[in-house]
Formats: sequence, C-alpha cells, structure tokens
Amino acid sequence: MKIPMLNLVAEHAPYRGELLAAFERVLDSGRFVLGAEVEAFEQEIADWIGVPHAIGVSNGSDALLLALQALGVGPGDEVICPTYTFFATAGAVARLGGEPVFVDSAECCYNLRADQVVSKIGSKTKAIIAVHLFGQCADMDPILAAAANHGIPVIEDAAQALGAKDKGRQAGTMGTLGTFSFFPTKNLGTLGEGGLITTRDASLAEKIKKLRVHGAKQKYFHEMVGGNFRLHEIQAAFLRVKLRHLHGALQNRRIAAARLVEELQSKWRAVFPVDRCVCEGERQSLARTTPGTVLLPYACQEGVGEHTWNQFVIRITGPGKRDETREILAQDGIQTEVYYPRAMHQQSCFAKRKVGEFLSAETFCKETLALPLQCQLPSQR
Ligand SMILES: *Cc1c(COP(=O)(O)O)cnc(C)c1O
Repeated sequence: MKIPMLNLVAEHAPYRGELLAAFERVLDSGRFVLGAEVEAFEQEIADWIGVPHAIGVSNGSDALLLALQALGVGPGDEVICPTYTFFATAGAVARLGGEPVFVDSAECCYNLRADQVVSKIGSKTKAIIAVHLFGQCADMDPILAAAANHGIPVIEDAAQALGAKDKGRQAGTMGTLGTFSFFPTKNLGTLGEGGLITTRDASLAEKIKKLRVHGAKQKYFHEMVGGNFRLHEIQAAFLRVKLRHLHGALQNRRIAAARLVEELQSKWRAVFPVDRCVCEGERQSLARTTPGTVLLPYACQEGVGEHTWNQFVIRITGPGKRDETREILAQDGIQTEVYYPRAMHQQSCFAKRKVGEFLSAETFCKETLALPLQCQLPSQR
C-alpha cells in the first residue's frame, strides 16, 4: 500500500457534487475572470478570517509581490524575512529590486526569530515579512512591537496558515497586510491556483485592487503600473465550496496530528526539542541529542494559539539520519517530503552570505522531514 503525502482525489470525494455544481454555475454564467464568484468569495473569506478587506489574486507568490508593491518596496529597500521559508517569500522582495535581509529561525516552531528581526532593523528597512511556517503562527507580539516602534509595516506570509491563531488572533489580521495561497497543497487548496491579500487598511485594499488590474480603477486609465494578478471565477467558485468545509477539515488535521505525535512517541521514542518556547530569542541549544533522536513538532503557541498542521514536520538529529529514515519509510510505501533542503541564504541566486551564519536554518535543512498526516509508522526504524 502506498501512502502519499496528500491524496486530493480522496479529499475532494465528499464534496464532488458541490464542486461539479460550482463548475456548472460558472460555465452557465459565461463570466470567467473577476466576477460575482470572486466578489462573493472575497466577502465570505473576509468574514471567515474576521478582517475588513480580502482581495483575491492569482496566487500566493503574486500576493506577496502585490503586498510589497503596495507598500512601495523598490530598488535599494531592505525587507527582513526568514531564511528558512519557501522561495516566494524572499523572491517577491528581489523581483521588486529589493534586498531580502535574512534572519534565523527558532527550534521550537521553525518560525523566524523575533530577536534577530529587532536587531536587523535599520535605516533601509522598508518592511518585515513574518512567515507562519507549516501552519503555525510566528510569535507576532515582539515583531509587531518593534515594527510599530520604527514605523515599519509587517506582512504576514500566511500561505500555509489560513485559520491559525496567535493568542486568539487569526493569521492575516495582525500585520499591515496578510498574504495567502490556494495552491492545491495548502489547507484551503483550489483546483488550480489562487491567492489572497487581507488588510484592515481601506486605502491599501483599494491600491491592491488597482495593482491587480494593471493599476487601473477605470479600465484603460492607468494610475500606476500593476500587472495581471486576477483570480478566476472557476477557482473562486471551488474555493467557496471548500471554505464551507474548512473548519471541519482543520479539526480533522488537528486530530490526525495529535495521533501522529502519540505514535511517534510510542514507536520511535520521539521527544520535544525544547521544554518551552524559544522563538522570542533566548539562546538556542539546537538540542544536543544522541544522533538519530526524533524531535516532535513543538506547538509553541499551545494553549494560546492554534496550529493548522499544513505540514507535519519532525527532525531527526545527526548527520545522514533524516535521509536514512526517509529511505526506510519509502521502503514501507510512505511518501515523505523535505521542506526545505536549502535555506534562502544558500540559494545560488542570493548566495552572498557566509555558511554557518544561520545555524538553525542550515540544521533544519539537513534534519527536518515532513510526514503524511495519515500514516501508520513502522515500529522499527
Ligand atoms: C506556497 C507558499 C507561497 C506561494 O504561494 P503560491 O500560491 O504557490 O504562489 C508563499 N509563501 C509560502 C510560505 C508558501 O508556502
């Protein structure tokens, strides 16, 4: 039996009728780009998240690009972001001629370290991108406080974290702007591509809506240079169906994650990497353990926050141990994934930095492994 990371055919099966009805509705409407479905979806997801403005866009990468562009990021500007993230976070900064300034991540939750964000704020800092990695919110309070002190806007890259909370606050409602992705692997994945930007700021929302259609409010009258970042009607219609089931889907993920934690503890003697949250920046230990120790994903915000488990990521310490485990699981038919084999400061398009500058990120790249949420682990490893 093969266990894939994600089985979308099975996940969509219960909503098949609703998805087909959504398709028929769009087919019969004759309108395919930025129409009634997109508008309805924007309203429904704004209500779901609890934010005044939600703007549907082409994908999560473009959402980041548009957010940065709306904040005026351009050549020479610095934007602080984690090095341990998906490429789009840093790529969006570079696409506008800006300079991504990297920070390391915390052992507790793999999220960016607030203390390093604070220490890297300088005169060229134009924005901060806090990524809510793997479905868990970064610790936002110290980041928001430092940003407010310096008058710098914060973008939440919530591509993996729709529905996650930090001290009761929804991802995408805490910063100046929030960006989301509806790529099929995300928790609200569409049957193609899509993205979203959230904000409380009406004038930023207005500006982003213009940038989405080549900077024109009135067609063919361009106030600024934007691009084609439009969301399709068919994707919005599918997303409306899946949004109705999102709450239940996230509950199921949490149940599956709790079960997997127990299984890892009983079968592989897995332990938590730290006794308490360290993402506010206390000295990290990078858990000096016997090679081959399995470290559980530590839910930092436990009690105050909610993880959405977009990815269930463990760490296996020691040289080569992660890859050995991956091989054993593959022999058992269990597919796994590595998020991410290279940090951003190690990418050839950005590499200007010393090896070893971001020790946690480099360790994560060698030691982390994402497991399918639904799997039975072999007892021997
Ligand atoms: C997926 C992802 C994106 C990009 O979203 P796309 O819709 O694939 O363009 C951006 N940031 C993070 C952290 C992501 O995981």
